[in-house]
Amino acid sequence: MTILAIAQIGAPVLRERALEVTREEIATPEFQKFVDDLIETMHDANGAGLAAIQIYNPIRVCAIEVGNNPRYPYKPKIPLTVLVNPVLTPLSNERFDNYEGCLSVPDMRGVVSRYAEMRVTAWDRHGNAIDREVRGITAGTFQHEVDHLDATLFIDRVADTRTLCTWKEFARHQEAAFRAVVERVVGRFGS
Ligand code: ZN
Repeated sequence: MTILAIAQIGAPVLRERALEVTREEIATPEFQKFVDDLIETMHDANGAGLAAIQIYNPIRVCAIEVGNNPRYPYKPKIPLTVLVNPVLTPLSNERFDNYEGCLSVPDMRGVVSRYAEMRVTAWDRHGNAIDREVRGITAGTFQHEVDHLDATLFIDRVADTRTLCTWKEFARHQEAAFRAVVERVVGRFGS
């Protein structure tokens, strides 16, 4: 496996719409190796997720995993999930304010309004159908990653730019209040 460079804001690739993957592509060893590299790069950077487009490959693939994550210690756990050609559909109009960060936006966090409940349809890395529902903080993570495939960064969705902060100032001034939001959301949705 290979750890790859992560595109940073300003890199044109982050503003491309990623292309659908075909079943023929999934079946190739090159695609499977790429997915391994995507996961390895996400782990190396302590990301909660990573989209292929963030490692300069504009295809509709992303990986998501939350274990004991030092970047996001309050996030509920998510088992390793690889989505190919994902489509998200809101299950209700309920939303919550998520304080997000991104491996492609160095040292910046901000509040983004996210749907609280989403249906996820996709293929897994072998082309098997995924059809499931995600809720709460986990739903926010899925929306962040799928946004990358449509050339959207979280900062594009920050409605109040006064919430933007560095990671140090987040820890100093925002984290305690946001942990209370996380507790409320996890209490309601279980994730
Ligand atoms: Zn991101």
